[in-house]
Amino acid sequence: SKPFPSDLEIAQKAEMDPIVEIAEKTGISEDRLEPYGKYVAKVLLDETTNAENAKKKGAKYIVVTAVTPTPLGEGKTATSVSLAQGMHKIGKNATLTLREPALGPVFGVKGGAAGGGYSQIVPMEKLNLHLTGDFHAITSAHNLLAALIDNHLHHGNELNIDTRNISWRRVMDMNDRSLRNIIVGLGERMDGVPRETGFDITPASEVMVIVSLSSSFEDLRNRLARIVIGYNMNGDPVTAKDLGADGAMAILLQDAINPNLLQTLEHTPALIHAGPFGNIATGNSSVVADYVGLEHSDYVITEAGFGADMGAERFFNVKCRKSGLKPNAAVLVVTVRALKSHSGLYKITPGKPLPEDMLKESPSDVKAGAANLQKHIEIVRSFGVQPVVAINAFPTDFDSEHDAIREIAEEAGARVAIHRGVAEGGAGVTELAEAVVEACDDKSDLVYTYEDSDSLETKIEKVATKVYGADGIEVAPAAKKQLKRFEELGFGDLPVVIAKTHLSISSDPSLKGAPTGWTLPVREVRLAAGAGYVYAICGTMRTMPGLAKTPAAGQMGFDENGNMYGLS
Ligand code: ADP
Ligand code: MG
Repeated sequence: SKPFPSDLEIAQKAEMDPIVEIAEKTGISEDRLEPYGKYVAKVLLDETTNAENAKKKGAKYIVVTAVTPTPLGEGKTATSVSLAQGMHKIGKNATLTLREPALGPVFGVKGGAAGGGYSQIVPMEKLNLHLTGDFHAITSAHNLLAALIDNHLHHGNELNIDTRNISWRRVMDMNDRSLRNIIVGLGERMDGVPRETGFDITPASEVMVIVSLSSSFEDLRNRLARIVIGYNMNGDPVTAKDLGADGAMAILLQDAINPNLLQTLEHTPALIHAGPFGNIATGNSSVVADYVGLEHSDYVITEAGFGADMGAERFFNVKCRKSGLKPNAAVLVVTVRALKSHSGLYKITPGKPLPEDMLKESPSDVKAGAANLQKHIEIVRSFGVQPVVAINAFPTDFDSEHDAIREIAEEAGARVAIHRGVAEGGAGVTELAEAVVEACDDKSDLVYTYEDSDSLETKIEKVATKVYGADGIEVAPAAKKQLKRFEELGFGDLPVVIAKTHLSISSDPSLKGAPTGWTLPVREVRLAAGAGYVYAICGTMRTMPGLAKTPAAGQMGFDENGNMYGLS
């Protein structure tokens, strides 16, 4: 229950500036702008969109991360939007770069990803629904490749593809558990070759990660060609190029590679682009949007999914490594409810509301969860970047609880500020904005956790021990063999993504705080050759979520006056 109107009501009352005015204020020239209606536009990439230009004027680059969240999320998006608005309040020129929300969470439990309250991206309905159709384009490009694979099998399988070793599945932008495992090709001889496969959600598509990590349209085309869809009977990789799919996929993606320009409730420019999944993929918005933002403003604020062990680790080790950009500061979002959950005193069930008794005043419960915040401060510092701890104030918090967090952060020697962006908009975020401006003037020098030249196993081990604080890793024999094979095939210099739960720094979602004395189990490893990384599956990963028993979808629609309700 919020003491102010719903997110949708606030967003619907917003007085937006025409997007051409937002672009003009940002210095994005009109010939690079392709409006999609009055309030959304695509910014066209051109030859000036590159790392060198992005770094030219020394704009500051800020990544927003968080402590280990509860299943509800701790407000990274809300804080990113709040901070951008706060920056404008203190007279700084800032641009936001965020992921585009997927439909699954919108109709499921968590809600959309437009921020919250008086810190939102608008038009919120467009952002949370179809926006400019990028996700549809990505879905189509992905499924075109799937269709070409099955068509190839049907017409004689000239490439000798091992039908039992095809990793390319189909995708859809909807949480639908009944499509996780399917058999295609049933029916008559003319209906294709029967084989088992399945659907993932669009954010889990390698094409989504390719859009996010590409530094240009040309780079995107090359990455599409390199996608490995499976192996032939000799065990050699089969690529999208082998199937002649990459050109047509690129055609489908020619608009999707351009970032989408929207605005916050206080008219701050926001580039919304790409939305890779935070657990098996990188969980970060696009490189090209960051290039455009840095070229045109003094501060760029971007969000990395889940906690600092997840999205931020990939932001530093994968995204920055690819983009050539180096962050100047990190904002570490923390909430009273997250630290209370890390006390281990409450039983939290994903898909269910948090327990009621977590709402009573208890600075000692907050203190009991301190280890998690301390560990995330350490994680951010391990990358050579100083964190600013941002206390995201909820209406149900008590001052004594905020004081407890301040003490924990100060004891760790970190800058700390409370923000009330959701309740108050940018005016409630000036303390945080000032702290971030100061932090950007500190010395920072990005340190990667591992070198390109480390073996794939060493890379996984370094992330596990140096970032997560594990004692070591335990690689299943089949995974060990697979890693060797990837190295033989020439993929040994790729970075790694560790697919694990986001609900703990460890691979066990029930371990709260900062777990020690544990080993990371690597069950299986997979190759994303187009995106350019190897990923290690550590725990049960859902690439196609299901909906809850009472999904948000059941509470939305249009009222008798024709007004939309229920989107959050
Ligand atoms: P994240 O990006 O970290 O996953 P979000 O910013 O999406 O988190 O926030 C998660 C949910 O919590 C959203 O529904 C958001 O509206 C809500 N929320 C975030 N911050 C606040 C706050 N300060 N007060 C009330 N609700 C909030
Ligand atoms: Mg978010």
